[in-house]
Amino acid sequence: MAKRRILLKLSGEALMGSQGESLDPPFLRALAAEIREVWGLGVQVGVVIGGGNIFRGAYGASLGMERSSADQMGMLATVINSLGVQAALEGCGVPTRVLSAIPMSPIAEPFVQRDAVRHLEEGRVVIFAAGTGNPYFTTDTAASLRAAEIHADLLLKATKVDGVYDSDPKKNPDAKRFTSLTYDEVLRLGLGVMDLTAITLCRDNRIPLCVFSILERGCLTAILSGEPRGTTIGFGGVERS
Ligand code: UDP
Repeated sequence: MAKRRILLKLSGEALMGSQGESLDPPFLRALAAEIREVWGLGVQVGVVIGGGNIFRGAYGASLGMERSSADQMGMLATVINSLGVQAALEGCGVPTRVLSAIPMSPIAEPFVQRDAVRHLEEGRVVIFAAGTGNPYFTTDTAASLRAAEIHADLLLKATKVDGVYDSDPKKNPDAKRFTSLTYDEVLRLGLGVMDLTAITLCRDNRIPLCVFSILERGCLTAILSGEPRGTTIGFGGVERS
């Protein structure tokens, strides 16, 4: 397995049930099984989960809330999701730790970079909760930041579509999927892969990214086994190894 350490980013919306429930237990179980598969192959796995299924700061701000408070609500939403994913992983026998960017000692360990790396090396899946801990950021940026901090070999962004398209495949039946892109192309073409801060952080720290469908069973393992899935974003031939 070429990738020794990965960071998996999942949006909060991915956890939602079909009737709008904030968490969907069958999906959580399926997700945990996917993670367990790659963890079982010896890959060190970090996870960042969004909070959009519960609360987004921009929504709170649109209601007239102070943006910083609204974003704190969003970050707390990611903690709820992190505990949900932790329960699912532990339910299938995977040891985990939740590390929170906002200290909350009865619930999670505080995020400390060295502790995160130690947990990964000791075989625990590390779930990074509460985003970056700062308002005005997203969990995509938190994922890029944590990927850099743990020296991840690959950042994997799980979505409900199987990669990056030149236009919205739900609206345009002729939309074309890219199999690979460079970070500069993503920026030049204005592709909405992740927000600009997140993309720039990955590019500047030379972290390759793969956007893939979490709904495709076995996709995570396939990618880590070197099979071409989703869209890979890199540097035009020079990748970290
Ligand atoms: N958030 C934040 N700082 C961070 C990460 C997240 O303030 O570093 C807040 C922000 O309000 C955001 C919410 O948490 O709207 C949920 O995160 P995000 O929108 O990235 O979740 P996703 O879309 O991935 O579910």
